[in-house]
Amino acid sequence: MKTGIFGGTFNPVHCGHVRLARHYMEGARLDRLLVIPTRTPPHKKAVDLVSGAQRMEMCRLAFEQLPGCQVSGLEMERPEKSYTVDTLEALHMQYPEDSLCLLMGSDMFLTMTHWKDWQRIFQLASLCVGARETDLDGRLEAEKIRLEQLGASCEVIPLEPMALSSTEIRRRIEAGQSVSGFVPEKVEAYILKYGLYQKKSSDLTAKGSR
Ligand code: ATP
Repeated sequence: MKTGIFGGTFNPVHCGHVRLARHYMEGARLDRLLVIPTRTPPHKKAVDLVSGAQRMEMCRLAFEQLPGCQVSGLEMERPEKSYTVDTLEALHMQYPEDSLCLLMGSDMFLTMTHWKDWQRIFQLASLCVGARETDLDGRLEAEKIRLEQLGASCEVIPLEPMALSSTEIRRRIEAGQSVSGFVPEKVEAYILKYGLYQKKSSDLTAKGSR
């Protein structure tokens, strides 16, 4: 079986994530794709991070239409920082016969050799990357060659980049703008229902009193 792994903070999940996953599942003929929200992202500051349960639920709503796609709580269940290498070791134990493939955007791909135990990651999984920005100027192809010389197996997905980020979604919500069309409809409804990412009244008071 071929198992894809798509990790991320998903704070919140957006249409760029879903589009990448859909395209990859169709093109690579994956048997399953595990979407794994991170509990504590090791590489970023957790700004405005909503609860793990809420991010898991938004991922379920976003990916429920994709056949073979499951949202996994593997990293949420770990009390300590989550590292991709640990997740891959756990999945390798769980599915020893499977070939594992890590799905990611270009920002992550271009930092691979800074990840914890990246050599072991290359042994455990192949890498698959989709561009996020239009102005990469061949950097993905060059990095693919460099990483393959270091032992990785890489694939660049031929997909028009979509420059959308969770940061932009959070910024829009905080500014009172609509995120319609930027996140799946059910995710938008969930965000509105629970008032996620909105400016807190205490922030407004603090800014107003400066
Ligand atoms: P933030 O803006 O909070 O940093 P993000 O939009 O980068 O978040 P993550 O949850 O950190 O979202 O991303 C999870 C994975 O999805 C990463 O591999 C990232 O590169 C990829 N990704 C995110 N947005 C896109 C996009 N628009 N196109 C392709 N890949 C994307």
